[in-house]
Amino acid sequence: MQKTQKQFNTILKQRGVSFQLLRGQTLTVTEVEAAQVSDLFCFNLHDFSESLSSGRSIDYNDQIFLTSGHSLYSNRSEVMLKIIEDTCGRHDFLMTPCSLKMFQIVANNSEYHPSCHENLAKSFAAYGISPDQISTTFNIFMNVQVAPDGAIRINASKAKKGDWVTFKAEMDLLIGLTACSHEETNQFKFSEIGYAIS
Ligand SMILES: [Zn+2]
Repeated sequence: MQKTQKQFNTILKQRGVSFQLLRGQTLTVTEVEAAQVSDLFCFNLHDFSESLSSGRSIDYNDQIFLTSGHSLYSNRSEVMLKIIEDTCGRHDFLMTPCSLKMFQIVANNSEYHPSCHENLAKSFAAYGISPDQISTTFNIFMNVQVAPDGAIRINASKAKKGDWVTFKAEMDLLIGLTACSHEETNQFKFSEIGYAIS
């Protein structure tokens, strides 16, 4: 199905949602404005002890920058999602979702700050999933540069307005998805994220 034929839902700025994505269904995540990152985490819908694994995905793809043709694996080495379309081409799978504690450590600031981790935790809470079950997210549209010496830096997202990524579910999934709350990651301006299930 063409992207333009899909019915898109909206994730508000600095918020998150959860939804079921059944085997064979596709999820398209799109850039409503530009350079807004969206964090994705998922569980096996029928067994929440099986969840997305960055380490296994990087290992089995021999690649840290995943795009069309790559698969996202679980902690049990099963394929959860396949990336079947990607007009942006650059995402991150190294970073954990931004969290209140992260903001307090990085910014040395004890004030409250919204975060992807909190938004994912809230979205998963109705399913009895605890915040500690949320691990490294697939960070859609996030541009992390890795230098030859291993130093990492968050650069401006390469995502332009209207860019999209489509994933196909290879098992029944519970998905959490955010519009990221981290200033640096999103060039100090936040926007909405669109998503469609078909
Ligand atoms: Zn975030």
